Amino acid sequence: LVSREFKASDSIVEVRGIPFGGKQIQVIAGPCSVETPEQMRQAAAAVQAAGCRLMRGGAFKPRTSPYTFQGVGDEGLDFFRDAADAFNLPIVTELMDVRKIDLFLEKRVDVIQIGTRNMQNFDLLKEVGRLEVPIILKRGMSATVKEWLMAAEYIAAHGNHRIIFAERGIRSFETSYRNILDVTAIPFLKKETHLPVIVDPSHAGGKAWLVPALAKAAIAAGADGLLIESHPCPEEAWCDADQALSPEQLKILMADLRKLAEAI
Ligand code: PEP
Ligand code: MN
Repeated sequence: LVSREFKASDSIVEVRGIPFGGKQIQVIAGPCSVETPEQMRQAAAAVQAAGCRLMRGGAFKPRTSPYTFQGVGDEGLDFFRDAADAFNLPIVTELMDVRKIDLFLEKRVDVIQIGTRNMQNFDLLKEVGRLEVPIILKRGMSATVKEWLMAAEYIAAHGNHRIIFAERGIRSFETSYRNILDVTAIPFLKKETHLPVIVDPSHAGGKAWLVPALAKAAIAAGADGLLIESHPCPEEAWCDADQALSPEQLKILMADLRKLAEAI
């Protein structure tokens, strides 16, 4: 269902009227984690000021260690919703547990993110497949493109065709940076699927200074959009502080991306 054999022409996935997969590049930005109402308000203001059209932020965080911050939980969706509504930004947030689906629907989450660690959580994929909410399906950190396509197939097979793929870097022998951004996967996947493909340069590079180069490479390679971590005060971020862009850095990157989009 997700392959070009099933449907040859590009599919547009609309999020509250914002098209993914068309001519426009869509940028989703915001903090790794929802922290406080004030942090989310400032983050939303910066996301909108930079010209990004959607906002990201996790209330439930899949952390490597069970002893680190796990996300603020249910009430975080309220902080997020309120901040984003004040700036008219649709919200993108990660779902890890099928038991939270009713809460996500009640809070009108606009896009549900399935994280790298859950790309092959098939029961979760089947459940989001029963929803009408658009899904961002991140690539498993060690998943092949074929496995990633089949994960999307699980969602589509249960009825939900509103899927956006997100490349976020894969594991390799290299330890100098967080992951390897698989730029090759962008045109390759676009050839295989009619659905939109976006890129998360933040989790690929793991350092804020690497984000602009990776973001531009992704757009040059044909990505339909970006998912970027930004924070009103990166050094104070509760999670992924090293890779968050400041409001100023986000603004500069967006201006550069606009120039790049015109050039290609
Ligand atoms: C995230 O986007 O917040 C995240 C945890 O990303 P990933 O699943 O790609 O690690
Ligand atoms: Mn993060």
